[in-house]
Amino acid sequence: MCGIIGVENNDSAAVLTAAGLLTLQHRGEESAGITISGKEKMKTFKEMGLVSRIFNEETLNKLPGTAAIGHVRYTTSAKSSLTNAQPFQINCIHGNIAVAHNGNITNFFKIKHMLLKKGAIFSHTSDTEILLHLIAMSKGNLANIVADSIRKLEGAFSLVILKDKTLIGARDEHGFRPLALGKLDNSYILSSESAAIEVIGGTYLRDIDPGEIIVIENGRIKKSFFYKKPKEQSTCIFEQVYFSRSDSIMFGKSVKEARIKMGEYLACQMKNVKADIVMPVPDTGYFAALGFSRTSNIMFENGFVRNHYVGRSFIKPSQNLRDLTAKLKLRPIKEVVNGKKIVLVDDSIVRGTTSKRLIDILREAGAKKIHFALSCPAIISSCYYGIDTPNKEHLIAANKSIEEMRKYLDLDSLTFLSLDNLVKACSCDNKKEKLFCTSCFTGKYPTKISKERI
Ligand code: SF4
Repeated sequence: MCGIIGVENNDSAAVLTAAGLLTLQHRGEESAGITISGKEKMKTFKEMGLVSRIFNEETLNKLPGTAAIGHVRYTTSAKSSLTNAQPFQINCIHGNIAVAHNGNITNFFKIKHMLLKKGAIFSHTSDTEILLHLIAMSKGNLANIVADSIRKLEGAFSLVILKDKTLIGARDEHGFRPLALGKLDNSYILSSESAAIEVIGGTYLRDIDPGEIIVIENGRIKKSFFYKKPKEQSTCIFEQVYFSRSDSIMFGKSVKEARIKMGEYLACQMKNVKADIVMPVPDTGYFAALGFSRTSNIMFENGFVRNHYVGRSFIKPSQNLRDLTAKLKLRPIKEVVNGKKIVLVDDSIVRGTTSKRLIDILREAGAKKIHFALSCPAIISSCYYGIDTPNKEHLIAANKSIEEMRKYLDLDSLTFLSLDNLVKACSCDNKKEKLFCTSCFTGKYPTKISKERI
């Protein structure tokens, strides 16, 4: 998963883009980059690590310009390295062009093979590189070049593309990954999440539609059109469950409201469970736990202290350091949990190892009963659209029954939100629309998944 942002027609483009990337940091912590243009020659600055470490006054002062795109990366399809960090900047027959991409291109190997046969040379392992080649080989004006290129792609992609003062946004025909449009004075902003638009002082206007390309220049929307007839919409429902910030509007619905609804529905599914407190696993379990508490009238308690300073790569959890890692990240407050019957609310179970450690430390702290409530159904299948879920053999729910999982996790009960309730919680106006990708819960995919490799 990644976060992307674009700002145009603004003398503070680099600073605003960096602030936007900080807001999108949860979408990718491995690398961050900004490409700037509009004043001097296009320039890209990217490094491995967190936005706050990479972009400071000194680095931002070296990025003069009026239009910028930015990217934070969490590796899904290619290895984590500076070579694969984005934005990608190319110099081709059309001049300097930069691209930042969120999603996974599912026909990547097929197109790469076709391009290799034509003599193309690849220097990255990222799927985004094929788009650069397609752009370089296309003819026409910038909008046509982009449309012609992405028409050949399948899978998930939300894109921000920069050339001189022109900012382009595009979303794949299914709309798997988000892309929001906002306005700040005389500038337009494109961002993976509306929260980043609002944090930098802008107003969220709308989402870019699936299949839409928008061309923005000098504070004006020059053009908006569909590069392909949109297919049945398949926006990633996991954005609402886990990835997005609670203060974002995702696919027309407040993420916070959707999470509260998930908790309310869970409470209805678990109405026979008796407990003293409802406790979230921070941070994503918070609003679902609140919804659960309001509906069940069971008291809401914060029973964990989260250490925000433990990075992803601080300790690779080897066997003997597992407990230390778990306790460093989350520590139960003994006074809250000791002797209590607890409804513990989390977003999901993937491998089951993190949940197991969490339950273990809660038991150590004296929890009497633990009823585990998950705000999405059991994940039984991998994601091919830009989320780093492991292969099926590592997904606990793909290999164990709910009762087997309950025993393995040492729980008193284990409840997953039903798919029906999840879709209701994420839909606008409680309408049950067929708008969402739910493939990781069903194993049924809305696109062909190519098994081809080179
Ligand atoms: Fe989202 Fe799951 Fe679909 Fe991937 S498979 S896009 S994580 S809903």
